[in-house]
Amino acid sequence: MKKIAVLGSTGSIGTQTLEVVRENGDIKVCALAAGSNIALLEKQIREFHPKLAAVWTEEKAGELRTKVKDVDVRIVSGMEGLLEVAAEPESEILVTAIVGMIGILPTIEAIRARKDIALANKETLVTAGHIIMPLAREYGSSILPVDSEHSAIFQSLQGGQQKALHKILLTASGGPFRGKTKAEMENIQVEDALKHPNWEMGRKITIDSSTMVNKGLEVIEAKWLFNVTVDKVEVVVQPQSIIHSMVEYEDGAIIAELGTPDMKLPIQYALYYPERRYLPGKRLDFATLSQITFEKPDMETFYGLKLAYEAGRRGGSLPTVLNAANEKAVALFLDREIRYLQIPEIIQACMEEHRNIENPSVEEILNTEQATYEFIKNRW
Ligand code: NDP
Repeated sequence: MKKIAVLGSTGSIGTQTLEVVRENGDIKVCALAAGSNIALLEKQIREFHPKLAAVWTEEKAGELRTKVKDVDVRIVSGMEGLLEVAAEPESEILVTAIVGMIGILPTIEAIRARKDIALANKETLVTAGHIIMPLAREYGSSILPVDSEHSAIFQSLQGGQQKALHKILLTASGGPFRGKTKAEMENIQVEDALKHPNWEMGRKITIDSSTMVNKGLEVIEAKWLFNVTVDKVEVVVQPQSIIHSMVEYEDGAIIAELGTPDMKLPIQYALYYPERRYLPGKRLDFATLSQITFEKPDMETFYGLKLAYEAGRRGGSLPTVLNAANEKAVALFLDREIRYLQIPEIIQACMEEHRNIENPSVEEILNTEQATYEFIKNRW
């Protein structure tokens, strides 16, 4: 029986992880952590019986304790709580389905406790990949990608020789504004940007997909997961989201993973790796599939992607600035405090302002995050 803990159990990836648990019936949930949605967390506690559950504030933790006082579960809070969930003694795999850089410290804690990581929280690798990957090697912990593109790359590398890898072809849907000019995007509203053509995801990542910053974060994530330079990662726009990504080997052979857009596949693959299991759901039908088309990404209009390549190339603390600036800009846009096109503008201004730190420690990463937030607060 697999034993897991989930950070961000009430979110899009978290709830789909628990669906995979429910459908398979042979995974034990040892611990859960959520932000503030205690109504859903209570249901999850009653269904999956974790021994430990965390929420962010002590106030919510108190409310939850009252709600589940008839259940044998310990409720904890804050970063301490997240760290406890990450290192819960019985669990073997930590699913990092939390959103943002808050995932860095719990991921490190879990690796030190020799857990494998089913990694959805890309912000952790983007900002601290130079710490996480060597640490995982040191502790013998596997980092199993949950992001569908990285899972596709990981699957395409099975049986192949990593040393014969020529490049990674990272596919992108292009988002809801593919083909639009900057002028046409002048008046985009929150509701427009929250409509992803193919995937149902959390709010932040849906906005990131529309700006293509998500693809940029994924380029940097791929750099760390597969030990390549960002220039070996080529973004290919494939609007139907059927090819989930590909790898090209030295001899020109390309191996891809294809399927219907369903995050449960990469989640289940990460949880049971290397075993493959039956997964209910729609299958690709090539007889009715009319076409799969390809385009080059428009990095001038969606220049957040270009900025991410630059941050990935230069490394150091610059990817943290890219990520933190994006997190804050997206939050401001969702709160209707800035216009859509200001998201990449803010990222660019923050990156220009920053004095890069090579090989930043976790403390320097978190300080860079705060300094970036501060800079944005004073200027916008
Ligand atoms: P959601 O916004 O749907 O969920 C985020 C989760 O994190 C929620 O459970 C939320 O809890 C929890 N959370 C937020 N803040 C805290 C906190 N301070 N303490 C504890 N828990 C917290 O995000 P997604 O599921 O979409 O994304 C999660 C991660 O996975 C992101 O890094 C994203 O980039 C990545 N990802 C997502 C994909 C998708 O399809 N959704 C695909 C690939 C990667 P609550 O709601 O209770 O506040």
